[in-house]
Amino acid sequence: MSARKPLIAGNWKMFKTVPEAVAFAQELKTAVAGVDGVEIAVCPPFTALVPVAEALRGTGIAVGAQDVHWEESGAFTGEVSPLMLKDAGCSYVIIGHSERRQLFGETDEKVNRKVRAALAHGLTPIMCVGETLEEREAGVTEEVVRRQAESGLAGLTPEQAGGLVIAYEPVWAIGTGKTASEQDAQQMIGFIRGLVRDLYGAGAAGAMRIQYGGSVKPENAAGLMAQPDIDGALVGGASLEVKSFVEIIKAAC
Ligand code: PEP
Repeated sequence: MSARKPLIAGNWKMFKTVPEAVAFAQELKTAVAGVDGVEIAVCPPFTALVPVAEALRGTGIAVGAQDVHWEESGAFTGEVSPLMLKDAGCSYVIIGHSERRQLFGETDEKVNRKVRAALAHGLTPIMCVGETLEEREAGVTEEVVRRQAESGLAGLTPEQAGGLVIAYEPVWAIGTGKTASEQDAQQMIGFIRGLVRDLYGAGAAGAMRIQYGGSVKPENAAGLMAQPDIDGALVGGASLEVKSFVEIIKAAC
């Protein structure tokens, strides 16, 4: 049995107004009262961070943002800094999600700058890595994930590396209803843990939580969560309804 506490994080993407987000938070709070052995986080859009953090204060349910800029302040129109996310009540931030990599030009270098800035301000990054379908079919999955993980973690201390969260999210499984098999997810997450061991030692590799993400649903969550190297899930679509999100949370306990 692993000493790592699984983290189930909901990535709401560009969904939910403030009243919808607060209503969700209130309902979630009641639904998970007494649930133990799993850490829970929700990642609303920027506009709902403060009211959701207020609604969840004192519950142990964490709040995360979906992106961050690396500078503390300055003339960066449209960006939000790590300092501002801390101020808003966040403890996590998703960095390098495949939608940001594919649609918004997020490079490995930008991911690394964001990871280092988040850590410097006491935020825990949930750093996403994962191959596209073309890359999987071309047989370069490990090469791609190695490059993303090594670049994203560059310059960290072993303590910093051990404290962050990586989400292995095969791009072909995100929002498609196709999930990696338990064996494939375990194999890739074991591969990532091996990389972290080579780079930062056994302590960091043993401490780091590595999630699976990609069409996690109540029906497949328990099998995925039972794998020895899978420490929770980053959940998109199924995190938008309290019922399905809570079923996934309970599958990880
Ligand atoms: C995600 O957005 O990180 C994700 C995994 O989405 P979904 O669960 O909808 O595939």
